[in-house]
This record gives sequence, structure tokens and C-alpha cells, in this order.
Amino acid sequence: MKSVMIIGGGITGLSAAYFLQKQADQSGVSLDIAILEQADYWGGKIRTDRVEGFVIEGGPDTFIATKPWAMELCRDLGLESRLFGTNPHQKNTYVLHQGKLKPLPDGLTMMIPTRFMPMLRTELLSWPEKLRMGMDFFIPAREDAPDESLGAFVSRRLGRAAYEKLIEPLMSGIYAGDGDQLSLKATFPILHELELQYGGLVKGALAMRKKSRPGHQNGRMAGTPSSQAGMAVPSRTDTSRSVFLTPKTGLAEIVEQLVARLNASGVDLRLKTRVTSIRKAGNGYRLELAEKKHIDADAIVLASPAFASGNLIANLDSELAGLLQETPYVTTATISLAYRQADLPRSLDGYGYVIPRREGRQALACTWTSTKFPHRAPESMALLRVFVGRAGQEEQIPSEEPELVQIARNELKLTLGITAQPVLTRTYIWERAMPQYNLGHPHRLRIIEELLSQLPGITLAGNGYGGIGIPDCIHSAETAAGQVWAYLNQQSESIA
Ligand SMILES: Cc1cc2nc3c(=O)[nH]c(=O)nc-3n(C[C@H](O)[C@H](O)[C@H](O)COP(=O)(O)OP(=O)(O)OC[C@H]3O[C@@H](n4cnc5c(N)ncnc54)[C@H](O)[C@@H]3O)c2cc1C
Repeated sequence: MKSVMIIGGGITGLSAAYFLQKQADQSGVSLDIAILEQADYWGGKIRTDRVEGFVIEGGPDTFIATKPWAMELCRDLGLESRLFGTNPHQKNTYVLHQGKLKPLPDGLTMMIPTRFMPMLRTELLSWPEKLRMGMDFFIPAREDAPDESLGAFVSRRLGRAAYEKLIEPLMSGIYAGDGDQLSLKATFPILHELELQYGGLVKGALAMRKKSRPGHQNGRMAGTPSSQAGMAVPSRTDTSRSVFLTPKTGLAEIVEQLVARLNASGVDLRLKTRVTSIRKAGNGYRLELAEKKHIDADAIVLASPAFASGNLIANLDSELAGLLQETPYVTTATISLAYRQADLPRSLDGYGYVIPRREGRQALACTWTSTKFPHRAPESMALLRVFVGRAGQEEQIPSEEPELVQIARNELKLTLGITAQPVLTRTYIWERAMPQYNLGHPHRLRIIEELLSQLPGITLAGNGYGGIGIPDCIHSAETAAGQVWAYLNQQSESIA
């Protein structure tokens, strides 16, 4: 029987095993599949705590439905009826501006303004800054653009102020990145495509918005970014079903269902199993484990973060290992705090707020979880979640829980005036968690692919390559499973 080892038991590794097992079952072939996970729990960055009537997400809290792969997996797992969207009744999002919360203007499509009145009215930008945004209609497209940074691109089209006050905080919520380093082509290639196709960002976003209207022949495309981008920022004009979905008691439901299915189909699921290195052994590979044992495999899916995968293959190809190890990952933390509603000085009438880098705060965003997902806190309680840590400011993340809670409480006091003692707190530190698709990322991916083709039977999957959102990870897992399957078939044929 052929054996496949999957390294990493996050959503990528679990889905890769699921797709591979499904393929084997459909073909009536027996495969020996194992997932090796160093932690003592499944799910990696997906971490849900259900405590005292609260549903607390430590990592991601939703997935975007405009990228189909997570939705399709949930359907396959029988979870579709468990999915619900964000609260459609209180959709406000705020931006911190000079220490005060200002509403994000209506009519943003993929972060780009498409309605004039809300932009004219917004207090986030001055009149000269608004005028500068309007210049987008007249600035010619740059056809020969190299791998431009997101910051440079948006500043070129809409002006630096629009970038710093509007686009940067929205983008930060996705990548925790530095927009002046992030590659436009690797993160939001759709924006570059809009410039080329329509001659400007606003013109392009307007055209996308028109296409997204019900009845348009292309159907609903609101907020559909190119599949290569990370999570999308959908149109706020979308009033039907939310584009952000999550199972009723948290994303861990997907993990739990995957684990149950894999267990039932005989996949070997091993927690507390750290792989330390991989080397060649006969026609396949030998995986060395931390507990001084080894396992042999015909094929391997590296579903660990890119830098960890690089460490593992250092003996096989040092150049490839180096490229993977170099992929920058930012450390972030989330702090969830619960309060009695009666202790809050203002109503939490929206999904929360984002904080531009220029505001100089330690936090980068705050989600009003109990408004975004009303049933995730008991009736009389409010649940908030503060995000800390972004590219270039990671040294500001303390490693101790009380300090993290203090940062979050300071933020809530400064912005929302909350001084009460929280009734419950939970902190999650995510070391090297958010991959940064910086300038040069697309080129590096091409070299990685070329070098990987010299290691038959090894595939890479996960958030370090073509997208960081959960749907992207699932998509990469499905692709990796397909590649492994094709490789094993090819091997069997050549032996026959
Ligand atoms: C705070 C936060 C909020 C986010 N919010 C969202 C969101 O709302 N929506 C969304 O779509 N995405 C979101 N993301 C991104 C998304 O959660 C991740 O990209 C995705 O979960 C990564 O899954 P993965 O399986 O590829 O990697 P991981 O979850 O990192 O799993 C990799 C696993 O590999 C294991 N591993 C590493 N090395 C070894 C080894 N040597 N041996 C054995 N095991 C090993 C690790 O222990 C880990 O469990 C968020 C991420 C964070 C951190």
C-alpha cells in the first residue's frame, strides 16, 4: 500500500487528507495516509473556545464565500445548514481618525470608493485629499508597472492620504502587513487588473459594482477578488446574504467534522508528533521525528508554514529550503474581553473598527463580536476582540497574558471609554502566523515551483503561497492532494 504523510494538522493538512482519502475511496484504492501534527490539538490557527455561553475565536472568525472552496468543503461535510453570516442589521464599520471613530464611507467595492456622496461627506479625508482621489479618473494606467507595492499603487492612483487613512487600515486587518512592502500582484492583483482594463481604480470598481447588481448577467460578483488574493474586502452595498460565513458554534466545527470523517475512514491522526527533517530513502522519503523515531513515505504534503517546511527539507534542497525559510511571517495576538452590556458607555452598533498605522496605536483593529455574531455572547453581555501586532511592530507584543489584556483594555478605554473590569478575558498569541506576500513574492513562487519539481512526490500547501484565507488554504490542499494522487498513479504505472 502506498503511504502519504501530511505534515501539519491545520485546516490545510486536514483538508488535504480529506481530499486524498476521498479520491482513494472513489477509486477503490487503499492508501496509507497519516497526519503528523506537533501541537496537542487539531486546527492550527483555527481555535474556538466555548466558555460560559460565549463562543470565542482565537484566530479566524469567518471565511469568505465568494471564494468557493470553504463553502464547498462545508457542503461536503454536511455543515451547510450550520453556516450563518454576519449580522445584517448593524453593519457599521468605523475607522479611527485622530483618536475618534468615524464611519467607513458606504459604497466601497474591494476597498475602492464607488459612491460619490458618502465620499464627499466623510470626515476621514480633507477636501484637497478628496480632490486628489478624484484625480484617479484622469491619471493614465501604468501598463509597464513592475511588481509595485500596494501602498505605492494606491498612493499613485488615489493619493497618499486615501491610502493611509482608508485603504491601509482595511488591508492591515487582512495581512497585518506593511502595505509599502506588500506586493500588489500577490495580494490584490484585481486592483492592478482594474487599472489596466478600465483605465482607473474608481472606474473599474464602478464597473464591478454594476456587474454585481442583481439581474446582471454575470450574477453577483460583489467583492470578488482574483483568486490569488488573500481574503477579500467585499462591497458594503451587498445587502443580501453575507459574504462572510461561519458555523454556528465557531470555525472549529469544520475542524471537528474533518477529524471525525478522517478517523472514520482510517486515516492515522497523530498529535504531539513533530517532524524534524526529511531525507531521501529508496524511491521515497524518510521523515525523522522528534522522539527519535522515523516513518517512511512514498509521498509527502508539507502543510506546515512555509518557513517550517523550509527547515524540514534543508537536507534535500538547500536553495528551495532557503526560499521557504525566507518567507516573512508576522506575529499577531488577539485578546477577547467580555463585559456586562450595562457597563458599556456606548452601544456597539456595528462590526467594530480598524486603526490606521498613522494613529500610532498598539492595536490594529477591534471587532465587536457580540454585534457581528449576536448569539456568540449571552444576552446581557458584550464580547469584543482586540487585534495586536503588525509588520514592523511585533516587538510591541508582550508574551504574558496580563500585559496583553492591559494593552487591549487601554485601547478600549481610549477609543470607547470602557473602564469597567471585564468579566472574562482570553488571549491568543500567534507566533509567525501571518505570511507577508512582499515585493518579489510572485517571482519567488515561480522559482519555488521550479525547484519543487525536482523533488517528486513532495508538495507544498498552506497559506504561505497563493492566498492566506481559509478558502485559499483549502484550495491549496485540494490541489496538493490532486498532485500527490497523480504522482502515486504515475509511480504505480511505471512499476507495472
Ligand atoms: C489572528 C488571525 C485571524 C485570522 N482571521 C482569518 C479570517 O477571519 N478568515 C480567514 O479566512 N483567514 C483568517 N486568518 C488566516 C487563516 O486562519 C490561516 O491562514 C489558516 O488557518 C492557516 O491554515 P494552515 O493549515 O495552512 O496553517 P496552520 O493553521 O498554521 O497549521 C499548520 C500546522 O503545522 C504544524 N506544524 C508546523 N511544523 C510542524 C512540524 N515540524 N511537525 C508537525 N507539525 C508541524 C503547526 O503546529 C500547525 O498546526 C487569520 C489568521 C490569524 C492568525
